[in-house]
Amino acid sequence: MEDCIFCKIAAGVIPSTKVFEDERVFAFRDIYPQAPTHILIVPKKHYADLAALDEKDQPLMGYLLHVANRLAEGEGIARKGYRIAINCGPQGGQVVQHLHVHLLGGRQLAGELG
Ligand code: AMP
Repeated sequence: MEDCIFCKIAAGVIPSTKVFEDERVFAFRDIYPQAPTHILIVPKKHYADLAALDEKDQPLMGYLLHVANRLAEGEGIARKGYRIAINCGPQGGQVVQHLHVHLLGGRQLAGELG
C-alpha cells in the first residue's frame, strides 16, 4: 500500500527500531512506548485491520502471536507476563490502518482494557 506508514516501515523506507524480520513479518519498537517493552508486530502483506482477515489467514495470525511470544522471551518478560493487544477500527482505538499486534510489558499493566 503506497500511503501506508507500516508498509513503508516494513520496506525500510521509513526508519524504525527493528527487533525482528523475516519473509512474512516485521517487528519494531513503538515510537511512543506505553511500557518498557512496547513492540509492534506487523505482517508485511497489507491488511487494513483484523477484520480484513478471513479463514485462510489463520496461519498468519497464529504466526504473529508466535513471533510475539518469542519476542517476549527475548525481552525477558515472558515469565513476568505481558499483554498482547490488537486494536480494530475506530471504536477499537486503531489509528494506523495496517494490522498490527502490540506487545506490552516490563511493568505492572493496568487491569482495565478500555
Ligand atoms: P493503534 O492505535 O493500535 O493503531 O497503534 C498504532 C501505534 O503505532 C501507536 O502505538 C503509535 O505510537 C505507533 N506508531 C505510529 N507511528 C509510528 C512509527 N513511525 N514508528 C513506530 N511506531 C509508530
